[in-house]
Amino acid sequence: RLLGTSTSSSATLISASRAFFSSTTPIKATLFPGDGIGPEIAESVKQVFTAADVAIEWDEHYVSTEVDPRTNSFLTWESLQSVLDNKVGLKGPMATPIGKGHRSLNLTLRKELNLYANVRPCYSLPGYKTRYDDVDLITIRENTEGEYSGLEHQVVKGVVESIKIITRKASMRVAEYAFLYAKTHGRTKVSAIHKANIMQKTDGLFLQCCDEVAEKYPEIEYEKVVIDNCCMMLVKNPALFDVLVMPNLYGDIISDLCAGLVGGLGLTPSCNIGEDGIALAEAVHGSAPDIAGKNLANPTALLLSGVMMLRHLKLNKQAEQIHSAIINTIAEGKYRTADLGGTSTTTEFTKAICDHL
Ligand code: NAD
Repeated sequence: RLLGTSTSSSATLISASRAFFSSTTPIKATLFPGDGIGPEIAESVKQVFTAADVAIEWDEHYVSTEVDPRTNSFLTWESLQSVLDNKVGLKGPMATPIGKGHRSLNLTLRKELNLYANVRPCYSLPGYKTRYDDVDLITIRENTEGEYSGLEHQVVKGVVESIKIITRKASMRVAEYAFLYAKTHGRTKVSAIHKANIMQKTDGLFLQCCDEVAEKYPEIEYEKVVIDNCCMMLVKNPALFDVLVMPNLYGDIISDLCAGLVGGLGLTPSCNIGEDGIALAEAVHGSAPDIAGKNLANPTALLLSGVMMLRHLKLNKQAEQIHSAIINTIAEGKYRTADLGGTSTTTEFTKAICDHL
């Protein structure tokens, strides 16, 4: 870890005192505009936040052009330090350079900042028609291990190995987070998603931890669903689910499936939760190199991630104001980006949201 730890109760105090001073004192938050469409949609967030008078002072950090030996990645030590200091931030997508021998930017952030749970809400937007109008799911993805351990090697020529790591510690804390989230957000059911019939040791341990935590929450309905069956059920009837908790790779895949249920990756936000009270919000989508630099990207997912960040800071009034402006702009239908079937540019759509504030 880069710095000593603080307790979660001190983190709560920090949050509470920030909320108290929020009307006058700007809150410092780290902003990673990121790669590809990242800077375009980050600009959109900055404009909407400014128009909504949100008292946030952005501490902006860009991906470096050189590997920082202290992090073994293109993320500098100063960038990580900024999140540790501010405890809150918003992150644009970061491209993953393939086979370059250093750590992925996203993995670096998750591991160094101990961002153990990724919360991915997915809900139907009123006024934007898809096959379902009643999707309201929360995917909670274990964020630090599983297939993302980074332990890969060639055994002999033509044979490679990737190691999936599941620990009791990480499984217990994400299961705890999921049940507590359900309890504190008026949710009634948690589904643990797994493939323990095949991955008996790894997913078996994950399930065992979910079982243990479930016993502490008798008021929350609990079920175990095999991942392949879960995919079929989600596509057939998403209303069968409420909160879903799962190991890392399954969470990555299932949340894109869920995004498809409500209109695509341009719409789904997330927030990474760390043990030291850190919250780093980010869109579910990647850097979308196919549309980068063309003023075509939908900034909604990053904006809604910003809304999650505001709720974490207890800036609920501004969060709701921005949320409503986004929903109303999309529902009105006059300004929509191409992924939602519209013809608006990122800039025009952003301006329309500002006008709806
Ligand atoms: P992607 O999510 O970037 O794009 C998938 C498809 O969705 C593309 O057609 C893209 O144009 C579209 N799309 C995504 N976001 C959109 C938006 N806001 N508005 C409109 N259309 C949007 O996935 P990919 O192409 O597989 O990945 C590209 C890069 O991003 C890779 O390097 C990948 O590793 C990285 N990535 C990063 C993150 C992250 O930073 N958290 C997440 C996923 C992928």
